[in-house]
Amino acid sequence: MRPEILFPLFAPAHTLPGIGPRLEKLLERIAGPKVVDLLWHLPTGLIDRRSRPKIAEARDGEIATMEVTVGLHVPPRTKRLPYRIHVSDETGEMQLVFFNARQDYLMRILPEGARRIISGRIELYQGAPQMTHPDHIVGPDDLAEMPLLEPIYPLTAGLPLKAVQKATRGALTLPPDLPEWQDDAWMKENRWQGWRASLIAAHEPQSAADLAPDAPARARLAYDELLANQLALGLVRLRMKKRPGRPVMGDGRLRRKVEAALPFALTGAQIRALAEIDADMKASHRMLRLLQGDVGSGKTVVALLAMLNAVEAGFQAALMAPTEILTRQHFATLQPLCEVAGVRLALLTGREKGKQREDVLSATANGEVDILIGTHALFQKDVAFQALALAVVDEQHRFGVHQRLMLAEKGGAGTDVLVMTATPIPRTLTLTAYGDMDVSKLDEKPPGRKPVDTRAIPLDRLHQVMSGLGRALSTGAQVYWVCPLVEESDEVDAAAAEDRYRHLQEMFGDRVGLVHGRMKPADKDAVMARFAAGEITILVATTVIEVGVNVPSATIMVIEHAERFGLAQLHQLRGRVGRGADKSSCLLLYQTPLGETAEARIKIMRETEDGFRIAEEDLRLRGAGELLGTRQSGLPTFRIANIEAQKELLAAAHDDARLIMERDPELETERGKALRILLYLFERDEAIRYLRSG
Ligand code: ADP
Ligand code: MG
Repeated sequence: MRPEILFPLFAPAHTLPGIGPRLEKLLERIAGPKVVDLLWHLPTGLIDRRSRPKIAEARDGEIATMEVTVGLHVPPRTKRLPYRIHVSDETGEMQLVFFNARQDYLMRILPEGARRIISGRIELYQGAPQMTHPDHIVGPDDLAEMPLLEPIYPLTAGLPLKAVQKATRGALTLPPDLPEWQDDAWMKENRWQGWRASLIAAHEPQSAADLAPDAPARARLAYDELLANQLALGLVRLRMKKRPGRPVMGDGRLRRKVEAALPFALTGAQIRALAEIDADMKASHRMLRLLQGDVGSGKTVVALLAMLNAVEAGFQAALMAPTEILTRQHFATLQPLCEVAGVRLALLTGREKGKQREDVLSATANGEVDILIGTHALFQKDVAFQALALAVVDEQHRFGVHQRLMLAEKGGAGTDVLVMTATPIPRTLTLTAYGDMDVSKLDEKPPGRKPVDTRAIPLDRLHQVMSGLGRALSTGAQVYWVCPLVEESDEVDAAAAEDRYRHLQEMFGDRVGLVHGRMKPADKDAVMARFAAGEITILVATTVIEVGVNVPSATIMVIEHAERFGLAQLHQLRGRVGRGADKSSCLLLYQTPLGETAEARIKIMRETEDGFRIAEEDLRLRGAGELLGTRQSGLPTFRIANIEAQKELLAAAHDDARLIMERDPELETERGKALRILLYLFERDEAIRYLRSG
């Protein structure tokens, strides 16, 4: 349970004065629904109104605060023209400019003959200074009411800066003094203040330097966040490791059959990874291993052989994938291999219902199923195993830490966990997402893969692409055509894909298929199956095919509006081709003019197919939060910390967390108790449950 002292911070934003439902919605869009979300929404800029020039000294573009005498009001002759007010000081004259102004209002705040202090941006218009819509207007004695330094916050359409400032000021009255969770010496070394003081300072920058990631207030808050992250992961891991595992050691009889049935020999990397997995499974502690391998490196077969190890030893195994398409594909790939070895495989997704579902559940519960493959459906309460020894989680970044653990819990004590990720996550991010997991790397691609010929083509040469496509199709090629992510909305994405689908159908007839996120799963599967069988030659798709889809006969990948995709996403998409023996190509169609970042991404795509290099470049270009695309990414996105700029803080937080867990694993000391509050503050409530007295 969240400690009471934090309740006001977790109240909805509308509990703050002056925030109604409309404003709350807008604030939610930029920050989040709760008061604490506003606190984490730190300024990105600063308006400095301290310059106090006379009119004659005013410079174009400068933000200035000036004391003036109000002169003549000049209402506009037509509605489209601005309302002008002359003002002056002892050095000269200038005009204030208002569009769509109400005269009575202007008369009231700027009565002729009065002295006023105004603040805003100076513009020179035909050589004469003017100010359009001053930001602030106060009486001559009320300078104190004018904020001379104003934080600038990221905004969204319809949300004025002033409203965010006001909401944030309201939110900043609520933080209580909390017990200090940071180590005293570490605080002194960094010249950090306490949490509350740092929070206030971070929202009240006095100079540009205060906005930098290494400004003490910001660094402190970032460190808080990173420590919460590392500590939460550490606690989870500690508890997993403390649970005794059970030694699982197969005799190789099933593996031998399956390996004999494979049309290829394992790569050295696959053999090494399997040896590491076997050693973990055989040991009496629980396995927590990440199998990291670029697209097409052959993780699936490693997973299968690991699961067979469990089955040989008389246990069950489960494989969980993030999407229906991928789950069914795994099932289709593994089914014939399992048949060879007499291993009983079953499928459980949201679509297995009624009797069919009952049958799978009871077979799983009484041990008639050896390997269960499924989606999130595997988490459901009524799914019980007779003896689950190994849980494999594929394409992990789409699942949260919590979900991964829930699957392991199904096995009761000691279930080994193997997490597979296709995205080569840089070390820094691995640490934030997985903590100290052991890592096996598939750093060697299966032999015979040919490099994918990658080209960038402006969209206005679409007709050329189409005729090239026609030629390729006549030689029997199969094509993916990926449509852009227009918005964070499946509906709009689907519409774009449907348009392209119709267009391609007009040109190439009914061998064109379409899949997108809004289709019924059964329809999606049917289309995918027809594509895999070669009945469909052009598959128009949204990014639903991004992860894991394997149709080795497809050799051409067209990505429309490539400039709208992230690097990692482009890499994943390109990884759908180049899987078979034939030469493959990838066409990146882009809209001109290309922005700088988009251009850099496309350049990197043309230069390399090395997923690790691409991931590092992506991190550099986009920042960690976005690395895998914001959609469904289970990687922690940090509110304050910036992993690129604050790598050292992450490393320190990692060490700090390890030390804490060595000395105070149940968080019972005084600092430990304060750290519990920290975990709640950053909504790592989950981790607290892993404490004995949680
Ligand atoms: P990913 O790591 O992206 O999940 P997959 O497991 O889907 O990769 O494997 C990609 C393709 O490579 C599959 O068609 C698979 O059969 C094939 N493959 C896997 N291992 C080997 C190997 N050692 N030699 C040749 N082909 C392999
Ligand atoms: Mg895969």
